[in-house]
Amino acid sequence: MLGPPRGGADLPRLIKIYDTTLRDGTQGEGVSFSMEDKVRLASRLDALGIHYIEGGWPGSNPKDLRFFRRMQDVNLKHAKLAAFSMTRRAGGAAANDANMQALVSAGAPVATIVGKSWDFHVTAALDTTRDENLAMIADTIAYLRPKMDEVVFDAEHFFDGLAADRDYALACVRAAADAGATLVCLCDTRGGSLPAAIGAGVDAARAAIPTALGIHCHNDCELAVANSVTAIERGCVQVQGTINGIGERCGNVDLVSVIANLALKRGYEVLRPGSLARLTEGSRYVYETANMNFLSTQPFVGTSAFAHKGGMHAHGIARTTASYEHIDPASVGNERRVLISELSGQSSILAKTSGLRGLTPPAQDQALMSKILGRVQDLEHEGYEFEAAEASFDLLVRKTAGLYQPKFERLAYRVNIETEGRDLPRTEATVKVRVGDQIMHTVSEGDGPVNALDGALRKALQPIFSNLAQMSLVDYKVRVVNARAGTAARVRVVIESRDQADVWGTVGVSENIIEASLQALVDSMEYALLKK
Ligand SMILES: [Zn+2]
Repeated sequence: MLGPPRGGADLPRLIKIYDTTLRDGTQGEGVSFSMEDKVRLASRLDALGIHYIEGGWPGSNPKDLRFFRRMQDVNLKHAKLAAFSMTRRAGGAAANDANMQALVSAGAPVATIVGKSWDFHVTAALDTTRDENLAMIADTIAYLRPKMDEVVFDAEHFFDGLAADRDYALACVRAAADAGATLVCLCDTRGGSLPAAIGAGVDAARAAIPTALGIHCHNDCELAVANSVTAIERGCVQVQGTINGIGERCGNVDLVSVIANLALKRGYEVLRPGSLARLTEGSRYVYETANMNFLSTQPFVGTSAFAHKGGMHAHGIARTTASYEHIDPASVGNERRVLISELSGQSSILAKTSGLRGLTPPAQDQALMSKILGRVQDLEHEGYEFEAAEASFDLLVRKTAGLYQPKFERLAYRVNIETEGRDLPRTEATVKVRVGDQIMHTVSEGDGPVNALDGALRKALQPIFSNLAQMSLVDYKVRVVNARAGTAARVRVVIESRDQADVWGTVGVSENIIEASLQALVDSMEYALLKK
């Protein structure tokens, strides 16, 4: 089934994956990442084996520049960090362009420069001449080339430009190539092209310049994956996109599907060995971090991608369902789901528990495995998700296995919110907890209910467990859980905490947002104490 890529021996088998979730992805409606989100996402993408991570546009906002500064302390094992910018201003010089200074000072090894390749945009958007645009491309690339390991030129609107004025579009990519660009990336910026036009455009660029080519597609015609795969088969060696296809309008190309198709259908080498099986986990991690719901029908990694409605006898299910699956779900880290099956969910639990310290893998204990599975399924039914709450999952497994005694027990709490007229509300929380045979009863004010509860719990516990002082909350996310008919809406709260060494996530679910928050908070503190 996995023959060599079409096109024969002259085409490379290694395709470099260039992720722009942190830059183009954040152009998507409702998508925003905090600085810490971006740092963790970058590490996660690196672990997956992504080759390039475009972190932002240092010249466009100080937050992106701070991200690059912060990343200088993060040791990426595999990926190269890329900083984005546009070509220098018309009529200026790259050497004294503020965007260039910001880009160079970001300290990333790769610069990605977007420039016009459609004459209409040169005159209408940039309000300059066709010749000056060519000079802007050449000057910018030539200025950056000696300062960077690699300089990528993103030819914006390349396919539309080629249709409008072929010679000019090719002159633009030639200007970049002649100035020393290490790769020219052909962009379908409006996402309006069909695969045949993409294929022909790649052929035209290959004939015009000797430089390595990349492809950057948007999904406005729902063809971004088809277009990207076509471009690779025609000789592009890099594909730019975002995890889950988040991005402006209808999104960028979904790298998850591109990676899976290239690797499994065409036999290309894409991620580091073994990483393909972590694709589902990676996709869900990005959804959780972006505070978005998973798309259940997402190809390859969606929860429904390999779900089968039952109606068959258990012993025949595995063989019969496989005949309705185009790939083995495990190859991308997903799993087959058969309704009312005792087997569903085991593989993900095994994967999640295999790394837990001091725990016998439950695979060797079928009774324990069934118990954990039952508990997880019950909780997921109630609205829990453990993808971004590994600390809660760890505690759950230990508790179910009888390997964990909580260090404290929450007995009661009360939160009081008071306001008068237009005054800001004052919040006060009281908690009662038991530690051994001591009962602690403490009160704290806070900026809001979660902050007040956190304060009251700390007052109760910190005198006994001093390491809680090193722990702090870094993120708090709340989401309404899809309510089933006839039930009240529940909320899921995910809290992220950190100390000097680690970052961990915990989850709580309830119809009451304060109760959900407290569950996540208590898990977070229990985990901090367990780690110690
Ligand atoms: Zn784009």
